[in-house]
Amino acid sequence: MSLLDVEAIDAYYGESHILRDLSLSVEEGEICALLGRNGAGKTTTLRSIAGATPPDVRDGVVRFKGEDVTGLAAEDVSGRGISLVPEERRIFPNLTVAENLHLAEVARNTSNTWGRSVSVGHEGLSTDEVYAQFPRLDERRTQRAGTLSGGEQQMLAIARALKQNTDLLLLDEPYEGLAPKIIEDVEDAVRRISDDGTTILLVEQNAAAAIQLADRAYVIDHGGIVFDGSAEELREDEETRERYLGV
Ligand code: ATP
Repeated sequence: MSLLDVEAIDAYYGESHILRDLSLSVEEGEICALLGRNGAGKTTTLRSIAGATPPDVRDGVVRFKGEDVTGLAAEDVSGRGISLVPEERRIFPNLTVAENLHLAEVARNTSNTWGRSVSVGHEGLSTDEVYAQFPRLDERRTQRAGTLSGGEQQMLAIARALKQNTDLLLLDEPYEGLAPKIIEDVEDAVRRISDDGTTILLVEQNAAAAIQLADRAYVIDHGGIVFDGSAEELREDEETRERYLGV
């Protein structure tokens, strides 16, 4: 059994059939990349796993730690240890770094009080642990989030997600809009989180950078998986890279 097993799901936006019989699995402790062109279905896959609606998952099963989580509300999936960092990052630009982190904590505690989250396992990172993990954020506690660099904003978005109990972190295009030097900083941060024991599934259009970081990769095209192998195998598979990733 893998930490995450997506078994033959079909997902729709209204009547548009986007994911077709899509299966993938993520092993505990690994960094797994889901790669593909614009519109291939990467975000839809992450949203289907995280219980976000839309899309509507009509067939197939999403299993996390062996339990069927298909169709659970997003906050229940999150309470079980899956955190999604969406592409648009969702930080509060007019609040400081510290305030952004504080609000993530309030959100966590509120959902616990309402009893909607089924918290199992460990709690999320404390603020001190977050600052130890992200020294760049520590130096900028009082800076408004909107004035952080793109890479720092991405780190803040990840840090906010880790305030929830997270066994599986889903990252939607963490390198989007970042210069190569900054991508390296985000890469380092993701490696530290991984070394700390969090499993990671990341979606990227920047296949070259993602292959550097990942242990294993899937390639998605038109809503279905067309490649599954080690990052090494994908690096060597020129045909797949050219055909589906354009690199
Ligand atoms: P990108 O990198 O451009 O975000 P992606 O691989 O993440 O690409 P998705 O966002 O999963 O692609 O989109 C897959 C398909 O679903 C696309 O054809 C897109 O237009 C469609 N789609 C996405 N969101 C919706 C929505 N809310 N309603 C209808 N169709 C949608």
